[in-house]
Amino acid sequence: PVLVAGSANIDFVVRVPHIPAPGETVLGGAFTMVPGGKGANQAVAAARAGAATSFLAALGDDPFAPVLTRSLEEAGVTLLAVASDQPTGAALITVSDDAENAIAVAPGANATLAPGDLPVLADTAWLVMQLETPLATVTAYAASARQAGTAVLLNAAPAQPLPAMLLEQIDVLVANEEELAGIAAGKTIAERLAATGVRCAVVTLGGRGACALVDGDHHCQPAFAVSPIDTTAAGDSFCGALVAALAEGRGIDDTLRFAAAAGALATTQAGAQTSIPRRAEIDALLAE
Ligand code: ADP
Repeated sequence: PVLVAGSANIDFVVRVPHIPAPGETVLGGAFTMVPGGKGANQAVAAARAGAATSFLAALGDDPFAPVLTRSLEEAGVTLLAVASDQPTGAALITVSDDAENAIAVAPGANATLAPGDLPVLADTAWLVMQLETPLATVTAYAASARQAGTAVLLNAAPAQPLPAMLLEQIDVLVANEEELAGIAAGKTIAERLAATGVRCAVVTLGGRGACALVDGDHHCQPAFAVSPIDTTAAGDSFCGALVAALAEGRGIDDTLRFAAAAGALATTQAGAQTSIPRRAEIDALLAE
């Protein structure tokens, strides 16, 4: 089974003709409230991709927590909720007509997820984390996972530099180009992947697909041709599908292909958890 530990947010989304510049007000289209947060999205993505998935997150005592709980339950995720004295995390998102987004996050309860909140990892094969919860908590969980023989996948998002102590505990690192540049020095993507020191380092390249450096060997997967309308949760769908494939024991090329299909499908639907594809859709795209 897979355990995702990370953030849960309610996303407040407005479609806009273009992302507002500093000081600018843009008259937009419809408003939607969608369950999101990188942690919750990746838990939903892993479950929909076929993995038995639990999700550890801190939630507030407010009307937003049940919205998140319902979405996770509908996806078949087992929720391990930690009650926080802070409000449930929230994100203000604008999505432009050319499918770009700009996001401001109020971490709230997510900032209170603590090292002591990790359950016993006994039969957990994979622990999946992101960087929307405190770095000290992520680092402590990674160390516990190592001790328990649980493999660790870290999605290094949002971008921030990572202590060597954390990188050393990671089995699979997933970052986009910007995040990778913040983690590892080097002139080329290949140099940066190598500089992470992680055994399996994956970079996602948006509409250009994804590449991985595994034990010194490069593996690249082109993007699937789709018509994107909203790229929100493409990276999260990619990560969830990636860990689901790894948990099935698939090889890296097969795994990258499966994850890239999930990421591509997420761009064809609006919203975060609303856009995360199910196993049957991923398999259908792969069979085309
Ligand atoms: P993030 O949103 O975290 O920056 P990316 O934009 O790199 O992540 O997207 C993650 C993955 O989703 C990519 O590696 C790719 O496989 C898929 N993807 C993203 N955008 C597109 C697109 N426009 N067309 C096809 N696939 C896409």
